[in-house]
Amino acid sequence: MTPFPRPDYAGVRRYDPGRAPVRLDLSDNTNLWGTHPAALERIRRATTDDLARYPELYADRLREAVAERFDVPPECVTTGAGSDDVLDSVFRASFAPGARVSYAAPTFSMVEPFAHMNGMEAHAVAWPEAEADPSALFEGDPDLVYVCRPNNPTGGFPARAWIDGLLSERGEDGPLVVVDEAYADFAGETLLPDAPSIPKLLVTRTASKAYGLAGLRCGYAVASAEVALEADKSRGPYKVSGLAAEAAALAVRDEDGWMAGVVEETLRNRARFTDELTTRGHPPLPSRANFVLLPAPSGAARQDTLALREVGVGVRPFSGVPGMGDGLRITVGPWPLMEGFLSAFDEVFATAAHETAAREAARGKASRETAR
Ligand code: PMP
Repeated sequence: MTPFPRPDYAGVRRYDPGRAPVRLDLSDNTNLWGTHPAALERIRRATTDDLARYPELYADRLREAVAERFDVPPECVTTGAGSDDVLDSVFRASFAPGARVSYAAPTFSMVEPFAHMNGMEAHAVAWPEAEADPSALFEGDPDLVYVCRPNNPTGGFPARAWIDGLLSERGEDGPLVVVDEAYADFAGETLLPDAPSIPKLLVTRTASKAYGLAGLRCGYAVASAEVALEADKSRGPYKVSGLAAEAAALAVRDEDGWMAGVVEETLRNRARFTDELTTRGHPPLPSRANFVLLPAPSGAARQDTLALREVGVGVRPFSGVPGMGDGLRITVGPWPLMEGFLSAFDEVFATAAHETAAREAARGKASRETAR
């Protein structure tokens, strides 16, 4: 008999980003302008049937909306309760004893747990190494390769030529490649319409970011019909609630409406915020997403995150980012919120700089006195 829990679950933990409520939460890259108005209106018009009856088995109305918007066949679309669920399903569909997921790191923090939850081994390749040579991601003969574009948490955006190189390196019998496009609405460039015609490529999207629907838990992906079917089978029926699917479908269809305005303002504010931080001597990495990664001002991300929390501001710490060390990831939102961050930043880090200078001055004075 297999013990409970299964032995390889010993290292699996509940997700705990250490996120207590704060006055100004810039830690999770959600839409800080709010939610899609048509989606909200649909939820407000909910009927008894919407709640009392089961939804569509495989969220067909959402699949049709995605198919129309991106001009792909509906059978090439799969859905899930968040893109987390899509990723988990496709990892599960790729599992075989000893299977391996290879990914360019640092990246979305759930990739490693999803691999472990599905009995797979996770193999990280540092982004600079993968970027210089995509074949590094195929070392060790992985069964699935994961790439995030734009990448969370760096905001980096591998060029299309790099993706094409990755796909051609893989060869005919290579592993499934998953490209996570959770933030692609902000990058203005996508692989999604090409996915049906590229064998074993799955491109995931979420309703949680640009659409402002994180609370609904809805995501989707596009691939060849064969891959989309395997993801559907692995995920199972009735996973996307009817209201979530319908609300997300309205947002998907509204390509040039509310969301386009949010994206435009995000890009404007990201540039302005980057300038403000650069002026303060703390330039963040260039980003194609709705967040920026800033080298931790003290060099220690956890300490800086706690210091910002003390003044009511939430950011996400990262340690050991190649070429950077520790970093703080900050979501870009409406300008008054960014101003709120900047004044907290000035308060915390000007004080920290002041204290360091005072400590150094005191140390200097003490050593002068000892020398006397
Ligand atoms: N991929 C990336 C890169 C993310 O940052 C996130 C959310 N933080 C997700 C996927 C999952 O999003 P959701 O499950 O809300 O669709």
